Parts: sequence; structure tokens; C-alpha cells
Amino acid sequence: MIAPAMNSRTDGALTYQSLGQRKASVERSIPAEKMTRLRQECRELGDLQVKLSFDRDARYRVVVEGVIEATAKLPCHLCEEAVPHSLRTTFSATIATTEEQADYWSSGEENSDLNIVVIEAPRLDIVELVEDEILLDLPSQVCIDLNCGNRPTMVYDQSAGADGGAQRQGDTGFGGGVETLVQEDELSKVEDSVERQMPFVGLKAAMQELDALQGSDDEEV
Ligand SMILES: [Zn+2]
Repeated sequence: MIAPAMNSRTDGALTYQSLGQRKASVERSIPAEKMTRLRQECRELGDLQVKLSFDRDARYRVVVEGVIEATAKLPCHLCEEAVPHSLRTTFSATIATTEEQADYWSSGEENSDLNIVVIEAPRLDIVELVEDEILLDLPSQVCIDLNCGNRPTMVYDQSAGADGGAQRQGDTGFGGGVETLVQEDELSKVEDSVERQMPFVGLKAAMQELDALQGSDDEEV
């Protein structure tokens, strides 16, 4: 019987050192329930598909490259919708067994771009190895709803709002309030970009004319 318990017992015999020495590849499906911290950040987390490739570098340090995939729903912090999302994280890490070792390694200039992770237990623990990596890679913005305030264009400057609000006191047509201001901010952005595109308007018209002329040829083909 192939059960998670069986897998973890097998994994328990594998040390990071031996995995690196053998350039071992490990593929596991990790039950979502084991990802206790990740589960706090999302809903309906599916089982994680994890692929790990171990090796050793020139200094005999154990290195691992990993791919983690899972499906989940991530909450949008503004509209509170749970948005379906395919999580996919790739990472590479150099495994240190103590904080001192990690500090020593990261002090060398040639190691400045290493992702050093400290794992004190000698035996493979996939949850310990991958959970931080996927947590660090969670998107901060998940919402696909165009009306959601979580979009960056809706970021609202408080100081500008105080002035703008005063100016618009007499203007009852739009009802005032934050939403109106934000919409007007967006409008002015659109106008700015239209102005910037103006030099190309003549060119665009010329190309459209050209297309129209060619269009009659195309129809015959
Ligand atoms: Zn949202």
C-alpha cells in the first residue's frame, strides 16, 4: 500500500548529504494538511506536487532545486473574494546545518547570491524544505475583478484627497467622496496617456488608410 506514512518513512532514511552525493531526484505529493502555515494563508489548498533535485556544489555543500505546484484560493484583502490561483514556485537553495555555517557562507563575496537555508535535522523533511519557499512566493495581489479596489491604480493619496475634497464641496453632481476622486484621478491618467499618444495619431490614421486600400486586395485572395 502506498500511503503518505510510507512515503515519509522512506524519506526519513534519506539524509540531505546522501541525496546530494547521489544527485538524487525526489518527487512527492504532499497532502495539503501537512502545510499548516500555508493553509492559514489560503483556502481549498490542494495537495502539493513537489519535485526536488539534489546535488553538491564545488565546495561539497548540498544544493537543491525545487518545483512546487498546487492549486488554492487566495483571499483578496479588499473585496474578500477567494480567487482561484495556481501556485507554482521554483527555488534553489544551499542547505546549511547551523546558523553559524550559514553566516560563514554568506559572508563570502562569491556567495552573495546564494539562497542559504538552515535545516538542522539531517534527514529530508519536504514540508520544512518547501513551505517557506512557497509562502515567500505567494502573490500579494490576486484579484481579477476590475471593480476591486485591490488594483494598484486605485491607490489613493490622502493629502491630495483633502484638497480635492474641498474643491469639490460644491459639486454635488458626482456625490463627492473617495470613489469619485479616484475615478477622476484615473480619468486624468487616461487623458495624460492619450496626449502622449497624440504624435502617433496621424501615423495610425495613415496606416488605417493603407490597410483599407490593401483590404480590397485581401478580399480577393
Ligand atoms: Zn478583490
